Amino acid sequence: MPFSGFWPRHCFLCGAARDVRDALCAGCRGDLPAPGPGACPRCGEWRSPPAPCRCCAELGPAFDETVAAYAYRYPVDVLVRRLKYGGALQLAPALAAGLARAVAGREMPDLLVAMPLSSRRLRRRGYNQALEIARRLAVLCQRPLVATLERTRDTTAQAGLTAARRRDNLAGAFRCRRSVAGLRVALVDDVMTSGATLDAAARVLKAAGASRVCAWVAARTAAPEY
Ligand SMILES: [Zn+2]
Ligand SMILES: [Zn+2]
Repeated sequence: MPFSGFWPRHCFLCGAARDVRDALCAGCRGDLPAPGPGACPRCGEWRSPPAPCRCCAELGPAFDETVAAYAYRYPVDVLVRRLKYGGALQLAPALAAGLARAVAGREMPDLLVAMPLSSRRLRRRGYNQALEIARRLAVLCQRPLVATLERTRDTTAQAGLTAARRRDNLAGAFRCRRSVAGLRVALVDDVMTSGATLDAAARVLKAAGASRVCAWVAARTAAPEY
């Protein structure tokens, strides 16, 4: 059970009081698991050596590139879940900092867009964890964060659905509020599992004119299903 983080100057994971930055001590920050030894550059499926996966060689998702800061396993899974469901907003900066390091040296997008929640879910949760990460990341990358995507409805749980059912489930779930014609967009989310939600959102951004969409995620599951 991770330390509750009652004292903000103590490490959220181990409770240590030394070298705490972004709610984690230097030791715990250094121990966060890197994403696998290699990945498909487009969808992020783990492969070693890194090479386009068969799916992307044939068709692939609507986004052009995936960058993940961490592997979605302990303790990153704990951090993501506590940020997402437990109101631990103090964990967003550590995930954003990891993502900023992961994208450093890459071609920077024109703008960042956070994966939106439906207004119903946003009301219930009170915040959007992807936006909390994106807000800090925008500062670190010195790129504007633009609220251009809207989630028009909740989608039922994706787990257990076939790829075709996932696409049906997500059809019409996003809307773009303004043109992003000719712009390179980084779509920021907390975690990528199947990639289907990011694919649906990227598809809408592309339809609104985006020249390039990159999926920037704090964590990637070990066994993507895309
Ligand atoms: Zn620690
Ligand atoms: Zn791929």
